[in-house]
Amino acid sequence: MKIVLATGNKGKLREFKQMCQDEVLAFSELLGEFDIVEDGDTFAANALIKARTIYEKLGKAYPDDEYLVISDDSGISLPVLDGAPGIYSARYAGVGVTDKDNLYKLLAAVKEKGLQSTPAYYTAAIAIVSKFGEYVVHGWMHGDVLAEPRGDKGFGYDPMFVPKGYDLTLGELDDDVKSVISHRGQALELAKPIIGMLQKK
Ligand code: IMP
Repeated sequence: MKIVLATGNKGKLREFKQMCQDEVLAFSELLGEFDIVEDGDTFAANALIKARTIYEKLGKAYPDDEYLVISDDSGISLPVLDGAPGIYSARYAGVGVTDKDNLYKLLAAVKEKGLQSTPAYYTAAIAIVSKFGEYVVHGWMHGDVLAEPRGDKGFGYDPMFVPKGYDLTLGELDDDVKSVISHRGQALELAKPIIGMLQKK
């Protein structure tokens, strides 16, 4: 059974490939690039939309192969902004924007509140879809966001996020530190036994 990731986000792909021991393929390697409309109202709903869409397309394109599709829907939430950007994290500054546009918009929103830092958390929902059914697990990472970004590691909002218990931002911390404490890392730890069980079936 081949493991396919239902994400085109290069930052997420790099992290998944680093965290998974098994070989994982990006969906674009098998199906080419295309957009998926994520119109669910929770991280879990959007993760399932992505995984189901790729699973169905793979079934049509490669009917003789078996696939297990993993998708991640994730984002950052600030209580001071009533949970924004939340599920809209990828399009906070608009449709078709870059990660940098979103980062600058969130930095501006924190500054507008007159804050130098404020609590925030990342959420990741990982959906697993295979012929044995559908599963969703979640992971979270709590910390603070700063009004001034620091570092250029990670991706997305990482240069403004300081995880709880650390002084450095995720833009300054190494990827291998992030992969242990991150929302995606936490969710993947829960997903791994499910993936292992499905592969043995
Ligand atoms: P998705 O691809 O629809 O799940 O969008 C997730 C968005 O949330 C990304 O485009 C980033 O802006 C943000 N995000 C999710 N996880 C992370 C992370 O680990 N670091 C930084 N930004 C993240």
